[in-house]
Amino acid sequence: MRLLIRPEPYPDESLESYLLRLSQENGFERYTLLSGAIRDSLLVQDHEASGAFPLELARVNVFHAQRSSGLRVRALQLFAQLTDLDPACLLQLSLMHSGLHFGSGHACVHRAGVDTPLGFIRTGPIPVCPACLRESAYIRQHWHYSPYLACHQHGSQLLHLCPSCGEALDYQHSESFTHCRCGFDLRTAITQPASAEAQQLSTLICGARFESTNPLLSSEHPSLMFGALYWYWLRNKRADAGQPEFGTLTMAIDYFSAWPANFHHELQQMAQKALQTQTRLLNHTAFREVFGSVLTDCRQLPTRDSHRNFILRGLLDYLTELVCANPKTRVANLADIQLSAIEAAALLGTSVEQVFRLLQDGYLTPAHRRIHGGLKPHEPLFHLRHVIECRQAHRSTFNDAYHPYLPAW
Ligand SMILES: [Zn+2]
Ligand SMILES: [Zn+2]
Repeated sequence: MRLLIRPEPYPDESLESYLLRLSQENGFERYTLLSGAIRDSLLVQDHEASGAFPLELARVNVFHAQRSSGLRVRALQLFAQLTDLDPACLLQLSLMHSGLHFGSGHACVHRAGVDTPLGFIRTGPIPVCPACLRESAYIRQHWHYSPYLACHQHGSQLLHLCPSCGEALDYQHSESFTHCRCGFDLRTAITQPASAEAQQLSTLICGARFESTNPLLSSEHPSLMFGALYWYWLRNKRADAGQPEFGTLTMAIDYFSAWPANFHHELQQMAQKALQTQTRLLNHTAFREVFGSVLTDCRQLPTRDSHRNFILRGLLDYLTELVCANPKTRVANLADIQLSAIEAAALLGTSVEQVFRLLQDGYLTPAHRRIHGGLKPHEPLFHLRHVIECRQAHRSTFNDAYHPYLPAW
């Protein structure tokens, strides 16, 4: 089967939008008629890939594939071949699973060289900008990102609900870019101007960078900006919030303008609270009991390199200062709290395996003489002081990137 009309995708177009345009411009009444025909053709050519090709538009993107993401990629490549499209064209528009994670295991997706937390992808309705639709009737990929709160080109709020019937806008189900299901022409809708913070955040989402002392605004790469923003959202979101909310996100820019003093103040308060409520000697207290998951949350955003991951750098500076201000004495102090191997690896910018290697080779001292039941990555194992000292000792030899401290076995 060959599609007679093959429009060029826009560089910022979503995959779903492009497939819908392909279907409509070639005269298919519904997208499922095109996807059904494609699946029938795939069935003849490649049985496996046809099973990995969903009929619904809202499920077609590669990151939706649970276990068969490779097959989904193959199915899209065959789709392109069958329809005489450039083989890479559909994959360039796709959101792929990324091998990276944010913080402590939050999945992310990848498109055009940028890693975005999966939690920032809108799962339900997709808002639109009426002014953008007036210029060109297609769906921009950034409308799919939940921190994209306002149109960065027109400075207006996005339209989430139909002004006529009040229904949430979802082009993947209505199969129309310009009209609501009730028939209302979205291009005629009037939207309100957006706040300066919302506009600035949306500009950041689209890859802009500002000359600023605010590290969120001056992030050298959009993946790093997404990492910091996601960290902020996880830390400040309401317990019941599924999708990022407007209020929390717009405060992020303001928060990072006082970085790192405000973060250090928060850490200081955690330390004070632990000192007031301590029931055990500090050299028997886990880092997690004092500072919670702060270290594992910022170890990978999405890089472990503290030169680029400014949140990890802020934490490292605080902990280094804490060890410096609490020298070793006969009475245990805050610098003697215990880190797990995972936490030590985050501080040293290396892997857990390398941390165990440092332990076995005597570069790191264990907090306990006897380790029962083998080495466990999650269990408290090292005094904070020793890990910071080990880091300082190696700083001149190794850069901060994800770097093995010792050669491989
Ligand atoms: Zn717009
Ligand atoms: Zn409507």
